Amino acid sequence: MDEAVSLDLNGKLALRLRLVRGAVVAARTGWADTVRAGQFLKIVDPQGKQAGDFWAFNAANLDEHLSAMHTRVWVNRLCPRPGESFHTNHRRPILQLVQDTCGVHDLLTAPCDEHRYRLYGVQGEHASCANNFRQVMAPFLGSTRYIPQPVNLFMNVGVFPDGRVETGDNPSKPGDCVVFKAWIDSIVALSACPQEFNPVAGWYPTDLHVGVYEAA
Ligand SMILES: [Zn+2]
Repeated sequence: MDEAVSLDLNGKLALRLRLVRGAVVAARTGWADTVRAGQFLKIVDPQGKQAGDFWAFNAANLDEHLSAMHTRVWVNRLCPRPGESFHTNHRRPILQLVQDTCGVHDLLTAPCDEHRYRLYGVQGEHASCANNFRQVMAPFLGSTRYIPQPVNLFMNVGVFPDGRVETGDNPSKPGDCVVFKAWIDSIVALSACPQEFNPVAGWYPTDLHVGVYEAA
């Protein structure tokens, strides 16, 4: 399946991409895979209003990972725009944002975890982005305690002039997507956020779709 992805050149150029492999990340679950340098990763929100917590690591050195705080100071904004790159804790680019049909993502908020759901009053087990991360990254990281700050795709966290930070309605429309190009061989992880107690997943978690592409 070929798919045209428009690079950030005012619509003057389009790059044909060939799907290498794709997957459905079922609601409330996680996914991880390797993306080689030069390959593209597309993440789609088919139903809309679904946040996806996202991480990336240097495949050759898992101590190096996409870092929200290092990215913010590099791009001088809260989230990269198409053409800009996410950076690592070693202060070099790992993924370029090539296409973004939603335009709203969060690099400030922690992934949901078992403690968050306990605060909502959940007594038993509840899926979480933190636990999805642990499960899908276990083959690469083993058991890990440290979870980097995720990029919360399609999640709307407003920052206001008075310093207030507030989670708002999820803005993504059905079919909204982001496309990344890998600068280095990367291990990437995604959690289709299981949060149903606030609007980050539109109050009803749904699937996300992922695809790894190469230039056709
Ligand atoms: Zn979550």
